[in-house]
Amino acid sequence: MKPFKNLPIRLFDDPVQISAVEQALDDLKTSAGREYPLVISDQTFTNDGKLPTTNPANPAQVLAVFQKATPEQAEAAIVLGAERFTSWRYTPADERANYLFKAAEFLLQRRDQAVATMVMEAGKSWIEADADFAEAVDFLEFYAREALRYAGRQDLVPIEGEEPELFYIPLGVGAVIPPWNFPLAILAGMAAAAIVSGNCVVLKPASETPLIGQLFADAMAAAGLPTGVLTYLPGSGGEIGDYIVDHPQIRFITFTGSMEVGLRINERAAKISPGQIWIKRVVAEMGGKDAIIVDRDTDLETAAVGIAAAAFGYQGQKCSACSRLIVHQEVYDRLMELVVAHTKEIKVGSTEDRSNFMGPVINQASLEKTLSYIEIGRKEGRLLTGGERIGNNGYFIAPTIFGDVAPESRLAREEIFGPVLAVIKARDFDDALAIANDSIYGLTGAVFSRNEEHLAKSRDRFHVGNLYLNRKCTGALVGVHPFGGFNMSGTDSKAGGRDYLGLFLQAKSVTRKI
Ligand code: NAP
Repeated sequence: MKPFKNLPIRLFDDPVQISAVEQALDDLKTSAGREYPLVISDQTFTNDGKLPTTNPANPAQVLAVFQKATPEQAEAAIVLGAERFTSWRYTPADERANYLFKAAEFLLQRRDQAVATMVMEAGKSWIEADADFAEAVDFLEFYAREALRYAGRQDLVPIEGEEPELFYIPLGVGAVIPPWNFPLAILAGMAAAAIVSGNCVVLKPASETPLIGQLFADAMAAAGLPTGVLTYLPGSGGEIGDYIVDHPQIRFITFTGSMEVGLRINERAAKISPGQIWIKRVVAEMGGKDAIIVDRDTDLETAAVGIAAAAFGYQGQKCSACSRLIVHQEVYDRLMELVVAHTKEIKVGSTEDRSNFMGPVINQASLEKTLSYIEIGRKEGRLLTGGERIGNNGYFIAPTIFGDVAPESRLAREEIFGPVLAVIKARDFDDALAIANDSIYGLTGAVFSRNEEHLAKSRDRFHVGNLYLNRKCTGALVGVHPFGGFNMSGTDSKAGGRDYLGLFLQAKSVTRKI
């Protein structure tokens, strides 16, 4: 088997690639409005409650209609998973890994379709959508290899008269609850890791993006995954989330999303439901308020390019997005001229047009939330650029920067999850580091500096799960930058790292007297 390698992201400078995505966008428009039944085992359901998925650049456009799963259907999916687990758990690791390899092949043949779907359903630019796709394939390829490694011999200290061994076994049936912002990569990564480890899963996609999730479910089905190992269960988190989390047969919950929902899941999962015979395991990756520090001695132009990309790529809707910029006072004015100039060059509009770098935010609630933080920003800081909605169809917001923001202000402390950057002036490097660490979150961070002492200090004291030196704080690659945050950013699961599958396994130690 070839060693794992990241799938390169396409930049769409090839006319053949461009026309293939254009064709996929047209195909999606032609099939828009298609209704998908809910499938549990060999039964299909059409419910009264529907889950339409729409285009945030043109909210009246319904891309597809899914069924809103009911608690009874969630129950059926969990019971099915628990039944299937009795055999799936004993399926050899190489067989389980093969399903992932095959699903990756299936997806690779539908790359343009996936990109088009994420452009229209999630408002991603073409390159962001392709990066999401590449990450999903990387997860499948990486975790398949990891499953084989975990299934291999584990070293123990030898002892005379005994033959000890240790091996990893799966946990049971789990709930996989992803967010909409990496609607293919995170969904596929969390589900594939659990499945390849020998667990069964009930996968409830985010309500904003069930169509791209369906492609992953199709990929696993096309790979021949036995029925019930994965049940794809679109539905409202508010309506069926608690039911799934509380269920006594659920053994683990793997969640990525907001801090509020993650903490709720963690709390509920800790309560023992009648009939439950284990402590539920919760993997929760949550929000961020990620900071980039710019030191006095650094290449300001390189920093400015990285800051604009990290703050406004995918409209600032990445958990890793730069939402706080902390700048040494001596370079503050010069840096801000550069950052504002780069930001003003950003093109905003429907990402069906591939020249637009920024598309819409995901929905009406996000539009309103972001605009309300912009109003807060007007009181708490100095507007340097942006500050308004663009147009009135679609959820477009100009990339917005507030300067002179105080570290204790709301703009500097609360996750907005939109294209708003708060800029804070620091007295010196130590002050910058203290401001950066003064947050309930601890996901990503970056430092631009030529000062070796400051870089070394950041390495040891900047308390984030993913720290980047002299580069932007977004763009983690599977296997290269295992991803997960500290403090209220989550349980630090390090997705795409060598510890990850361990979260879906338990170790069994067996010793034979000889
Ligand atoms: P969210 O509102 O917390 O939703 C995440 C998922 O939880 C969705 O599938 C949602 O379903 C479901 N959910 C809602 N209420 C639930 C409940 N009571 N029980 C169980 N599940 C429930 O987050 P989001 O808006 O999708 O995503 C944005 C957030 O994700 C941001 O805070 C971002 O920082 C974070 N994020 C973190 C990482 C990371 O690696 N740390 C990566 C990406 C995103 P519905 O869609 O049906 O409501």
